[in-house]
Amino acid sequence: RPESDLHDLATQRPESLDAYWMPFTANRQYKAAPRMLVRAEGMHYEDVDGRQILDGTAGLWCCNAGHARPRIVDAIAEQARTLDYSPAFQMGSPPAFALAQRLAALAPGPLNHVFFTSSGSEAVDTAMKIVLAYHRQRGEGQRTRFISREKAYHGVGFGGMALGGLPNNRRAFGLQLGGVDYLRHTLDLPRNAFSKGLPRQGAELADDLERLITLHDASTIAAVFVEPIAGSAGVILPAPGYLQRLRELCDHHGILLVFDEVITGFGRVGMPFAAQRFGVTPDLLTFAKAVSNGAVPLGGVLASDAVHTTLMQAPPQAIELFHGYTHSGHPLACAAALATLDVYAEERLFERAIELGEYWQERLHALQGLPNVIDIRNFGLVGAVELAPRRDAPGSRGYEVFRRCFHDGRLLVRCTGDIIALSPPLIVDKAQIDQITGTLGEMIRATA
Ligand code: PLP
Repeated sequence: RPESDLHDLATQRPESLDAYWMPFTANRQYKAAPRMLVRAEGMHYEDVDGRQILDGTAGLWCCNAGHARPRIVDAIAEQARTLDYSPAFQMGSPPAFALAQRLAALAPGPLNHVFFTSSGSEAVDTAMKIVLAYHRQRGEGQRTRFISREKAYHGVGFGGMALGGLPNNRRAFGLQLGGVDYLRHTLDLPRNAFSKGLPRQGAELADDLERLITLHDASTIAAVFVEPIAGSAGVILPAPGYLQRLRELCDHHGILLVFDEVITGFGRVGMPFAAQRFGVTPDLLTFAKAVSNGAVPLGGVLASDAVHTTLMQAPPQAIELFHGYTHSGHPLACAAALATLDVYAEERLFERAIELGEYWQERLHALQGLPNVIDIRNFGLVGAVELAPRRDAPGSRGYEVFRRCFHDGRLLVRCTGDIIALSPPLIVDKAQIDQITGTLGEMIRATA
């Protein structure tokens, strides 16, 4: 195919929409009125009709440095020319080692070892296997139970699905991994609606872990998995002290604590990781999305020295962990991530969520009082506006606001049921924050 054909293929309406089975999408509804993105630069997407769409969601919590950053684009192209692929097993290439080193330096103290995957779902399943192998190696192989939380989202692998606490993501799939129990979620509108920043009430919800420990006995529990901020469920924040309490209980009972930072990592809350912003260090931390600015799929698990050392006790010629993916440590993904980390550092983007946090909070909370708005939540550069569900059609109001924002407001937001979630690229400026909140307000008003 000549190059001009390839360009047309990327930027023109596809000949047919039939063959592509789209993920987490109402396929027939979408295909009746497609939203087709063809280009992106900085804070904007461009759709197939040439309309500029302001990105209020960093893609899908991915593009924290904004789109098509030349440094990242060049790094990917250069790596593709130099070494396109290296086998992942018993072989290596420099970008993976360099990136692991950089991530270890960025992460909280003892998290110094990185296992690469290509997605958040793979990262979660990998973390579950590391947890099980760790306990077994220590002679506590009976610790096989996982604790997660209602409304959690940990991806779509069988492991992550079992940890997940969103009913729609489980309902259709009868076969579930056993041995998982769930903490209560921390969303509490009666006590906390319209809190600015972290909700004041709810640290005691961490004591729910004690109930599950009593029920199952600590000796059966391998790990507690939590998102420091639950994103996919519509931005659910922890009260101050909640995560600290989970940490204390895990320490006391020999249970590993895993933070799923697939959306909170890489500056979303003003530090490299939410673990640092909340001052709580987990034993394992999963990441993906913004590690490579979304430009090439990449994810992974950061493991503590203690976990890693435990799993390095086999004889030197033995494979220590029988786990890995064809694309673990993929050179293109790692090159993209190295360039991404350069951009984050040079432009001090991780600090933006703190610098802009007050302004973001103020503009977002100005939407209080609009029709059907029952809560507004914010932390760092994360926001959510929760709408009252329509009595006979839950989710339809949120979807309508999302659709209007895109078609009428030229703004990309995300809807999870009737919750509108916002997570703009960290390069967003105040005028664009005004545009995001202003347009959203207009579309909420227009949606009865
Ligand atoms: N974990 C969390 C907390 C997430 O938010 C997501 C995706 O949104 C995942 C895991 C799954 O990541 P992926 O879609 O890359 O598999």
